[in-house]
Amino acid sequence: MIDKLKNISLGNWILIGMVLGLIFGLFLNFNVHDPFIKNVIFMDNVFYLGGNLFIKLMKMLVVPLVFCSIVVGVASISDIKTLGSIGGTTIGIYLITTAIAVSIALGIGILIKPGLGLNMVNVASSANVTLNQTMVDTILNMVPDNPINSLASGDMLPVIIFGLLVGIILAKLKEETQLVSDLFTQGNRIMMEMTSIVMKFAPIGVFCLMAKTFGGLGIEGILPLSKYFVCVLIGLAIQAFVVYPSLLVIFTRLNPIGFFKKFASVMFFAFSSSTSNATIPLNLDKLSEMGVSRDVSSFTIPLGATINMDGTAIMQGVAVMFAAQAYGIDLGTSALLTVIFTAVMASIGTAGVPSVGLVTLTMVFNSVGLPIEAIGIIFGIDHIIDMFRTAVNITGDAICTIIVSFRNKAMDVDVFNGKKEPEEHKSIM
Ligand code: ASP
Repeated sequence: MIDKLKNISLGNWILIGMVLGLIFGLFLNFNVHDPFIKNVIFMDNVFYLGGNLFIKLMKMLVVPLVFCSIVVGVASISDIKTLGSIGGTTIGIYLITTAIAVSIALGIGILIKPGLGLNMVNVASSANVTLNQTMVDTILNMVPDNPINSLASGDMLPVIIFGLLVGIILAKLKEETQLVSDLFTQGNRIMMEMTSIVMKFAPIGVFCLMAKTFGGLGIEGILPLSKYFVCVLIGLAIQAFVVYPSLLVIFTRLNPIGFFKKFASVMFFAFSSSTSNATIPLNLDKLSEMGVSRDVSSFTIPLGATINMDGTAIMQGVAVMFAAQAYGIDLGTSALLTVIFTAVMASIGTAGVPSVGLVTLTMVFNSVGLPIEAIGIIFGIDHIIDMFRTAVNITGDAICTIIVSFRNKAMDVDVFNGKKEPEEHKSIM
């Protein structure tokens, strides 16, 4: 029996933790009515502590891991032209997939009409979210005033830019800066090892996160918005299970089913934690296990966690149609094009943390003059939607990374197909 348990992979343990957390959370929600036991003991202490401790451990890894691995990855690519082409293709794919995502969402919104006939009086507005960031600010913020400050506050884009520069210079100066190169290589190794240790706690962390979410979930919040909820889920499913597999087949001819089998545990983790950023270490590890070179993934995955949010864009597209229909506002073709453009831009420059998509939604609503109060209406069920969309966000990053690595011959297809063990890779799940 013990031997059998030992043979279960960490990925499957995460799934088990997730399902048990869901069941336990729902049990608490519907069967335990004593507020002391339910709220004080479980929700506010045991689950809160277990879930947040784990998220904090994962977040602790992100900045040093991302910084060291970008420096090491870029330094080993060394050829500026290759680097430019990888960067250009990656950003291009990220922007195009996000534009596809919003368009799918708008199409679903037009077809299913989630906001039609909604009685606005019955649904209370409960959020006050605003964002005053222009495109110019976003571009300016990419360059760090003070790199140490950006590292300390975990601002991903400036960290990526600074890491890129350090890597390029290390490649240029070669032996002259060998000591520093070695330092980053070893730092990278340390952070990978730390990731594998922290990940051992993932099943417990995921259990607590799921139990906390489902222990406190009010079903009454979902019912009036069920059409909106279903529309977002349909959009996410199309993006994850139609658009991504098609891209994978068109550009690489790799088997999408094989991809999902291996990648599912990363999606479960993103689902439970609702944060792309905290999923970076796991995503990097899984891609190495699939034969993708770290030289590429160390740059594309952190970049994707920040600028590529296809799942978020889908929620935003559906939310736009929902609000327009609920308030009886007619959006013409040019307004829809504005929505696509703004939603793509909104996903750039915001970190992959819980609920950020709702904040950037204000930018999208403002761009076509929709009432911001409508965001308050969907606020109540956003947490659960955030879980689903985060899983799609990180899947988009991984698919793009595989395509870019494949096209730049930075991927071992035999490893992907399971014909060969990954080199120098100690899998953590
Ligand atoms: N939670 C999402 C992520 O981390 C962002 C969002 O849509 O709120 O990718």
